Amino acid sequence: MKNKVLLYIPFLLIIIAAFLFNLLAPLTTNAKDDSKSINLGTYYEFYRDSTNKLTIENMLSDEFEGEFARSQQKYLFFWHTDDTIWLRLDAAEIIRDPEESYWLEATDKLNSIEVYLVRDDDTYDIQKGGMSNIKNQEIDYRSNLFYIEDPSIEAIYVKLDGVMPLNLISFFYTTKDFIEKVIAYKFYTGIFYGFMISLLIYNLFLFFSLKEKAYLYYVFYMLCFIFYQAAMNSLDLELLGPFFSEHFFTRTIPLVGNILFIFMILFGKEFLDLKRNLPQFNQVANGLLGVTVIFLFFIYFTENITITDYMSLIMAIVVPSFLWLSGLLVLLKGHKMARYYMIGWTVLLGSIMVQALGFLSVIPFHPRIYEEVPAIGAAFEAIFLSLALGDKINIMKKEHQASQEKLNEKLEHLVAERTQQLERVNAELEVLAHTDQLTQLPNRFQLDRLLKEGSEHAQNKDVPLSLILLDIDQFKAVNDNYGHQVGDLVLQEVAMQLKESVLREGTIGRWGGEEFLIICPQSAIGTAIDLAEKTRRQIEEHTFPVVVHKTVSFGVTSYVPGDTLHSMLSRCDKALYHAKNNGRNRVEYLLAND
Ligand code: GH3
Ligand code: MG
Ligand code: MG
Repeated sequence: MKNKVLLYIPFLLIIIAAFLFNLLAPLTTNAKDDSKSINLGTYYEFYRDSTNKLTIENMLSDEFEGEFARSQQKYLFFWHTDDTIWLRLDAAEIIRDPEESYWLEATDKLNSIEVYLVRDDDTYDIQKGGMSNIKNQEIDYRSNLFYIEDPSIEAIYVKLDGVMPLNLISFFYTTKDFIEKVIAYKFYTGIFYGFMISLLIYNLFLFFSLKEKAYLYYVFYMLCFIFYQAAMNSLDLELLGPFFSEHFFTRTIPLVGNILFIFMILFGKEFLDLKRNLPQFNQVANGLLGVTVIFLFFIYFTENITITDYMSLIMAIVVPSFLWLSGLLVLLKGHKMARYYMIGWTVLLGSIMVQALGFLSVIPFHPRIYEEVPAIGAAFEAIFLSLALGDKINIMKKEHQASQEKLNEKLEHLVAERTQQLERVNAELEVLAHTDQLTQLPNRFQLDRLLKEGSEHAQNKDVPLSLILLDIDQFKAVNDNYGHQVGDLVLQEVAMQLKESVLREGTIGRWGGEEFLIICPQSAIGTAIDLAEKTRRQIEEHTFPVVVHKTVSFGVTSYVPGDTLHSMLSRCDKALYHAKNNGRNRVEYLLAND
């Protein structure tokens, strides 16, 4: 139940994210053409110096006056090039108020950017930026900032050099506009990073409570994604500028990007359980992990940044495509848990494809393609992966419950079966406990119980109770003459005769040895004597196997007020003794007052 509620939180986050990105998109690009800030893209004229040797003096000479070409792009895009790029701005076109001071901003990571502010007499001031000058930067900000205080300048020359892609997103602001822009940027990036960090912490807690390794990989993946986005937005320069070298900053994007791939693969492997579901794909995943780790070292030590950028681009297409395909196959194998995973990777793949097409100039370069499309794609992917994890946990829980229920059913069935068996055995035991094995008549134990009941009944309810004790005459002789087995046979035969004779008038049981007891509840002494006499005759007339004739002696008594069970039994025994003494094969009775 609790987990189900948790599952809806990511949905809420998606809605918030969608809302935020809507706000974020127009603001981070600063592309509001109606504002007082100017996107310098089409104001630039450029010249490619493939010798890398030309200086500002060359540029200012008449020789180069006509060599500059007007930029047709809103965002200048030169990608990796060994050339030095010279850019020129006509100050009169962009400085609209001579009383104002202005800021020129270049948002991209560049190794070196030099800005020359040239007056009419061809004297100039120079300001240097880029990663090679990071330690001298006055303001720790993500982009290169150049302050233009002197409105009398005639032209601005910009010189770009380096191993990083020479692209330029460049704006021109008044101080007031610039401050407003920074405030807005900080506000919305604050929300963006805050949102991503919340998602990360949320999933970290889920990991702590669920102990699912996939959550941990996901948390690291999110962390790398946050760092990657920060590196793409040049926030590494802003925050770590004084602490690291140009060598490091030149490589942060591919380094963090490739660590990101490692956690993507680890997450995919774990989430889809590739080892079990697609063993061959699991091997490919391990191979990709190995390649990525080697590639990380290569990125750090190589001087050829162009190659690392192209290789990163290839990895950015291969890794998500591979993980997307794995998800698809696992889904087709019937694992429902891969649903949200697939949606997530589809979104990410789409955004990466757009980015790749942008770099390959299939679609025109735009800063949104460079920064925001993959950011939005990855953010949505992150949300869907978080959803996928929740979904997987839920599915696993349901499967666990179902198997538990099945097990319970099985157990219940087993218990019912065992109970039935036990009841049967108990019933058998009950019969055994109350029955004499030789004669199949109630045994002494059962007779004692019946006697107790009967005497209590007689004492309390004033109903009659009679007892008949009988003993086979000269039985020892049977054993002696014919053997114990014949004795047993006679005992069984007598028992059968007794059962037949007594029927409903009383209960007959084996009292011990060759003695039997008949309990006649509701019978007065006369009825009991009659029954005894009838029985005696029946046995006397019966033809036994082997011994042929056998007789029985009877002692009869009835309950009289003041009697106890003991007194009744001993009186009955006495009556039997009389019967024996008086010649056997006869019925004698005794009452208490005798
Ligand atoms: P009486 O007419 O005075 O009763 O003489 P009796 O021989 O019947 O009496 P007694 O008490 O001397 O002998 C009883 C014999 O019954 C002794 C015993 O060996 C035998 N007996 C008791 N229980 C069993 C039994 O379960 N099977 C067999 N075969 N004999 C039994
Ligand atoms: Mg006896
Ligand atoms: Mg006897």
